[in-house]
Amino acid sequence: MSGSSQIVVVEDEVAQRQAIVQYLQRHGMKAVGVGDGAALRREVQRAVPSLVLLDIRLPGEDGFSLLRYLRETCPGAGAIMVSAICETADRVAGLEAGADDFVSKPFEPRELLARIRSVLRRTESAAASPLSRSQVAMGQWVLDMARRTLLGADGTDAAGREERLAPGEFTLLKMFAENPNRPLSRDWLLEATSHREAEAFDRAIDLRVARLRRKIEPDTAHPEIIRTVRGVGYMFVPKTF
Ligand code: CA
Repeated sequence: MSGSSQIVVVEDEVAQRQAIVQYLQRHGMKAVGVGDGAALRREVQRAVPSLVLLDIRLPGEDGFSLLRYLRETCPGAGAIMVSAICETADRVAGLEAGADDFVSKPFEPRELLARIRSVLRRTESAAASPLSRSQVAMGQWVLDMARRTLLGADGTDAAGREERLAPGEFTLLKMFAENPNRPLSRDWLLEATSHREAEAFDRAIDLRVARLRRKIEPDTAHPEIIRTVRGVGYMFVPKTF
């Protein structure tokens, strides 16, 4: 982890915001606090953050809306959602929108720090990985890691087309691309894409796989690119047409 990681804490409660910022600074991190979406946007325009700690309930624009904004403007930045109550619906919505992790209030500062470090390690190693700049063939499609999108492969029916991916879909597809021909369990996929205990989100992976298959499989009834491995989960089989 580089010492230049810049963390933005979005929290409307002043005392909480200051406490978190000071705690992170005491642990050698560069952290700034902002109270709402407008201030976050100003901060992002000034300097792209390494990671944003995002309270969900905010005055004006809420955390989900700000997460979508972050994913569009700085897709490489880590995002940890902070929810006042541990609501499964919030967690699933955040995962779908591309959050890297979740923390429920009240949280232990040490737990927060550990989660921040873990997300930073992943986002920084992803940025350094050659795969993050490459393209991976998936049937008639090519997953473009830099543009986070699916492009139709030359010489196929899909040629010239572009299929946009939701952040959660991209994260999952990238995980498949990085682990070809290897059966991946739902638990592992959930762990790898969200770093959360799996149970509450078991269906989230299935839903995302179903949506991805509708995008890339020629015949969704008989998927050949993202195959189901009975009793385990899923496996990406790189096969060109
Ligand atoms: Ca709040």
